[in-house]
Amino acid sequence: MPKLSPLWLFDLDNTLHDASHAIFPAITTNMNAFIAQTLNKGNGPADTQTVNTARLLYLQRYGATLLGMIKHHAVRAEEFLHDTHQFDDLRSMIRAERGLARLLKRLPGRKILLTNGPQRYSREVMRHLGLHRYFAKHIAIESMHVHRQLRPKPSKLLLRKLMRQERIAPHRCILVEDTSKTLKAAKALGLRTAWVTRYLAVRSDVNANTQTSLAPKIAITTTKRPVYIDVKVKSVHHLFDNLRRLTGTSF
Ligand SMILES: [Mg+2]
Repeated sequence: MPKLSPLWLFDLDNTLHDASHAIFPAITTNMNAFIAQTLNKGNGPADTQTVNTARLLYLQRYGATLLGMIKHHAVRAEEFLHDTHQFDDLRSMIRAERGLARLLKRLPGRKILLTNGPQRYSREVMRHLGLHRYFAKHIAIESMHVHRQLRPKPSKLLLRKLMRQERIAPHRCILVEDTSKTLKAAKALGLRTAWVTRYLAVRSDVNANTQTSLAPKIAITTTKRPVYIDVKVKSVHHLFDNLRRLTGTSF
């Protein structure tokens, strides 16, 4: 019996909540400190420019700063993720729209959280948002290994593996994301794509500098719908209005 109901893959940061408000800036600060220490060549921590260059280079080249730090500086993923996701009071830093639980309940099909953030952080955010119970699975960056290699979004290998594990045809999966690179990869595999633009940073430095987001350097004014986007919504609240387009007409 084929699975007829859709499978929703939801990103977390800047899709279900406004990470650019306080969380991403804090992660960037933590990341800068971590990179400065790591690049220390015996003359004290690396300077700001060197740190920024490394962070952005790795983000652009590998899709995640973490991957560059592992590859070029032999850092341990756990250590990097732990140190960069330290917050004084995470709860007070979270900003999100109201009514998300109602929306998730209303959307037909299973939901999986698929985030490049670490498990501990994303669990905590989901708990504060009160959304945990609406997701059948929670896939954080620690679980994104394919053939023993860390393959976070936008890895096609990761998405393919997930489809296989879930035994679902790509066209029955809907990826809900703010990051266009990931949506593009998903579309290439045949998934349906919903682009959430509400939290896209006008200032590219806010969103593009963290490993939890592969956010595009696109200003709000240029968020035209690219061909690999099936539906562009300002907020996840509008997903329901686009259900037909996202799920097809066959169920
Ligand atoms: Mg995101």
